[in-house]
Amino acid sequence: MEHIVIIGNGISGVTLARHIRKLSDKKITIVSAETDYFFSRTALMYVYMGHMKFEHTQPYEDWFWRKNRIELVRGYVHHIDTDNKVLKINERDFLSYDKLVIATGSKPNKFGWPGQDLLGVQGLYSKQDLDALEKNAPNNDVCKRAVIVGGGLIGIELAEMLNSRHIPVTFLVRESSFWNGVLPQGESAMINRHIKNHHIDLRLSTNLKEIKSDDNGRVKSIIIEETGEEIPCDVVGLTAGVSPNIDFIKSSNIETGRGVKVNRYLETNIPDVYAIGDCAEQHEAIGNRRPIEAVWYTGRMMGETLAQTICGNRIQYKPGHWFNSAKFLDIEYQTYGWVFSEKSKQDYEQHFHWKHEDDTKCITVAYHKDTNAFLGINTFGIRMRHETFDTWLTENRDVDYVMNHLIEANFDPEFYKHFEKDILSAYNNQLQTA
Ligand SMILES: Cc1cc2nc3c(=O)[nH]c(=O)nc-3n(C[C@H](O)[C@H](O)[C@H](O)COP(=O)(O)OP(=O)(O)OC[C@H]3O[C@@H](n4cnc5c(N)ncnc54)[C@H](O)[C@@H]3O)c2cc1C
Repeated sequence: MEHIVIIGNGISGVTLARHIRKLSDKKITIVSAETDYFFSRTALMYVYMGHMKFEHTQPYEDWFWRKNRIELVRGYVHHIDTDNKVLKINERDFLSYDKLVIATGSKPNKFGWPGQDLLGVQGLYSKQDLDALEKNAPNNDVCKRAVIVGGGLIGIELAEMLNSRHIPVTFLVRESSFWNGVLPQGESAMINRHIKNHHIDLRLSTNLKEIKSDDNGRVKSIIIEETGEEIPCDVVGLTAGVSPNIDFIKSSNIETGRGVKVNRYLETNIPDVYAIGDCAEQHEAIGNRRPIEAVWYTGRMMGETLAQTICGNRIQYKPGHWFNSAKFLDIEYQTYGWVFSEKSKQDYEQHFHWKHEDDTKCITVAYHKDTNAFLGINTFGIRMRHETFDTWLTENRDVDYVMNHLIEANFDPEFYKHFEKDILSAYNNQLQTA
């Protein structure tokens, strides 16, 4: 019986395993180092914040895997021998495969800062990071101040987590405005204000120079590059992005760039070896997408797609229209299609921006300045329906249509009615002044 071995029990690896089992009787083994069982990484923050226990982040009961004949091996893969189709696990064990799937996810970036490996300095990615945070920052007696380095989605989650335990946070952000490589200026500026309103000490255009140690090898302060200021702290969170977790693959002949290089079928340069999820890098970006997409649902889609291919129905990975969602403290953010920031805005792209006077809700609609075609929307504090925007993007609707039917996309039309008039009159005003 053909043996499929998957490295990594994250969303991409387990989705693949479940779908292969639905489609076939193949032997399936998942080897993974971090935890015995799959858990939802996106829910880690809620464990620290006391909304759920770690067990609740595991959507499948422990018996599920045996019942579905998915063998789980807890171990770290050190080397892949593609000539003999064998993995070396934990320095001493060997496991043969017929087909191998690399689904090893990401790791937090470290940029060689002096002191980055001191006690009390950590990322926020793994279950081990969650345990470390519980030790390093149980409360504001033990942790008088935390410094977070890197202003992306994980950085702001960490700030919210620490805030929930009343731990003062200084947040160092290299950019001149929060996440302005991705968000248009109006949105980014609103989030700057929102972060400050939560009493987080947001420092924009600020880089970390060095992390200083006490006599026991623990962090005692950080130094800011631009001003030389020293900020005493007990914890430093490194959240300056993630990179594919693929160092162990470099000793094999599998082609890598930043990630494991794959084609549209998620195949690597070596026959019978594939890669999915955060660690996979497309040779050519698909449309406006990035070659590496470190988001939850694309990992799941890649797992579902590759299951088909492995079970004999070779199909391409087609992710459809881009969407994503996240949270900036208590403001929900959703994006559908493409709304670019000032830095990456396309020549043809025009924006309509509306912001509520309470400074916690806004939308930005992107459209083509010549054809009026609807290109995408960002929403903050107003929850919209994914399927509706997906349909409008597929149907190539124009911006007038979208603006006049926005209520149909709203999750809570009653709630939306309060803003509809205001949004439409702002939109019509903009048309008159354009
Ligand atoms: C705090 C946090 C919040 C997030 N929130 C969101 C969100 O709201 N929305 C969203 O879309 N995305 C979010 N993400 C990103 C999302 O979680 C990832 O895109 C997704 O988990 C990646 O899944 P994966 O299966 O590719 O890899 P992973 O989940 O990283 O799983 C890979 C597994 O492989 C293991 N492994 C690695 N190397 C080896 C080896 N050599 N041997 C054995 N095992 C190995 C790793 O230990 C890991 O357990 C968040 C990420 C973090 C860290």
